[in-house]
Amino acid sequence: MTYSRRVQPEDGDDRQALRTRRFLMAAGTSLMVIALLGITYAFGGLEWTGLMQGTALILLWIAVFFIAIRSGFNLRFSDPSLTAPQVASSIVTMAYIMYYADRGRGALLLVFLMAFLFGVFKLRTRQLVLLAVTAILAYGLQVLALYRFKPGIVAMEDEILKLIVLAVTLPWFAAMGGYVSKLRDDMRDSNRQLESAKTAAEAAGLAKTTFLASMSHEIRTPMNGVIGMTSLLLDTKLSAQQREYVETIRSSGDGLLAIINDILDFSKIDAGKLDLERQPFEPQGCVEDALDLVAALAETKGLNLSHQIEPSVPSVIVSDGGRIRQILVNLLGNAVKFTHAGDVSVTVSAVPLPASALLDVTFVVEDTGIGIPAGGIATLFDSFSQVDASTTRKYGGTGLGLAISQRLAKLLGGRIWVESEVGKGTRVSFVIQAAAGPARAPKTVNRGAAAGGDEQHLAGRRVLIVDDHPATRRSLLRQFESWGLAATAAASGREALAWIGEGQRFDLALVDMQMPEMDGFGLATEIRKQLGGGTPPLILLSSLSRPEFGPNDAFAAALTKPVRASRLYNAVSDLLAPDPAPERPASDIMSLPRMADRHPLRVLVAEDNLVNQKIALLMLERLGYRADLVANGLEAVKAVRQVPYDVVLMDLQMPELDGLDATRQILAEHPIGRRPRIVALTANAFEDDRLECLAAGMDDHLSKPLQKEKLENALVRATRISSPN
Ligand code: ATP
Ligand code: MG
Repeated sequence: MTYSRRVQPEDGDDRQALRTRRFLMAAGTSLMVIALLGITYAFGGLEWTGLMQGTALILLWIAVFFIAIRSGFNLRFSDPSLTAPQVASSIVTMAYIMYYADRGRGALLLVFLMAFLFGVFKLRTRQLVLLAVTAILAYGLQVLALYRFKPGIVAMEDEILKLIVLAVTLPWFAAMGGYVSKLRDDMRDSNRQLESAKTAAEAAGLAKTTFLASMSHEIRTPMNGVIGMTSLLLDTKLSAQQREYVETIRSSGDGLLAIINDILDFSKIDAGKLDLERQPFEPQGCVEDALDLVAALAETKGLNLSHQIEPSVPSVIVSDGGRIRQILVNLLGNAVKFTHAGDVSVTVSAVPLPASALLDVTFVVEDTGIGIPAGGIATLFDSFSQVDASTTRKYGGTGLGLAISQRLAKLLGGRIWVESEVGKGTRVSFVIQAAAGPARAPKTVNRGAAAGGDEQHLAGRRVLIVDDHPATRRSLLRQFESWGLAATAAASGREALAWIGEGQRFDLALVDMQMPEMDGFGLATEIRKQLGGGTPPLILLSSLSRPEFGPNDAFAAALTKPVRASRLYNAVSDLLAPDPAPERPASDIMSLPRMADRHPLRVLVAEDNLVNQKIALLMLERLGYRADLVANGLEAVKAVRQVPYDVVLMDLQMPELDGLDATRQILAEHPIGRRPRIVALTANAFEDDRLECLAAGMDDHLSKPLQKEKLENALVRATRISSPN
């Protein structure tokens, strides 16, 4: 044995404990050998002296090794388990005992071999060869001693044969066993290396994530300064060229912020720091919100947007509505971005899961766009991956959208998948697990006091839908059916007129503005020609960017596409009411852009949720405001220091500094009259929340989901206060 002063660093207490346990097992085996010796003696195969001295020797060895291991003496050897010395002492002891055996020699030889084999899978070749030599010598010496002192007890030829067998087999086993041990040790080493490489990689991954999170956060702060200042600059007198430059800075800044938000989200998910909120929400509203965000772009590209919620979907489900909306926004963003003509549709369906109160809710976003080649689908969900490098140049984007969506879907208990055909279109579906929520009258969300109980006057009324897009027709038909109306859909003005010519009558007609051959106005004129005073109220469906198509002589109301169920319900129910309400301009598209001219305000939105940010900005934009954005209370406080805002829309729950504390800080820093009006945005509209906001010094309170009318009113109130003249 080689001495070594080295104590292996991993030689902790637990490894010593492991050695003790292993030794106790070996000691147990030795006790079994003692029992075997007793049996051999009982059969007359062993002399009494052999039994006694053998037992004494075995017990002595057990004691010696036990003390060596318990005292830590073993740690001074390169083989701290002391396997080789234990095997060597067993071999020598067995050879010694065999000197006292006659008829029991065959049985004891087995034990002798077993003692050697114990070391075979544990020790290295060199040690095993030494043990084999020791075993052969010990056996040989024992045979010589017998020959010399007890002639006649054994047959000499037999013993020589046994020696030869030992001399051949033991070295062979030594070589094989050593090789196996070496393989095992190599494997253990490489496992250790892998383990430490894995730990290092995990640490590096975490460092990267933390770095990304803190970098994107750090970049946000100066970016808010840049964006806030450009909006101030835009308020000053600028030449057309200067204005164009500043607008470019502003839109580039907004774009950069969007990317930073994505990266922040992505690294949060990767670090497992993204917390989901499980709250009841309406899938219908969620889909409509998402559609709203892409409606403008879809409109400029001439794409038809539609959505369909299957009857299997409960009106309220419990999950993280904000995150589902975020996935939908990503998928719809892609669908609109990669489609040049045709349709983009969203379908939602649900399947109850067996033996639980949960549902699988599936959302499908389908487009008729450029499609994805089969080879591209595999890497689609990797971060920063786009199907080919030219995508970035042509369509922009960072390739994070699907990666984030996939991770979110997984967090929501589901998955996401893509089917696509080049040139035909793409269908991206994701499924999530949700619970059915408390039922509520879904179509009356915006109707306040009138909610519920007033569907009576709708039942059985006949509605005509005229739209050239099959997906829109389907979705409207389904919607009307769910409200108990009898709806019929025509694909063109010509078809609708033919039906009217045949004598079919309707209580209401919904007419799309843009149709081939005959547009909405043309059709309205024709219907009026045929029916005169009997013309039913007509509703115009048009795209949002065309305020000129507001309600007028021809139409009693106008709705923007994609049509929100709640607005459609309001319009239809107003027009079909037994005592028709005085015709009021449906406010959707009319008069809104003028709001910002009438009430110019500098608006800051403080909101951490990506989708809520977009919704607030978009709504403000439709009112004509170009609001600045910050993602937490701390940034809001800093932004208010830099830019004299008139209004801050302040989310309550935000990282770093929540809305209430941020408000208190802003109030402390700015004297009355020199500070913005602070409007709380809260998720639940309980009275307690409102009181808490007012107690913190906020001036006003809006509940989410944000409604345009209420936002408008809040801004009007803000104007009165900030400019009392
Ligand atoms: P980002 O979403 O970060 O702005 P992106 O849209 O390029 O950038 P992803 O949303 O992850 O990134 O999409 C990855 C790639 O998948 C896209 O670049 C595009 O090549 C392809 N792709 C995704 N959706 C569609 C679709 N509906 N039709 C065709 N190609 C698509
Ligand atoms: Mg995308």
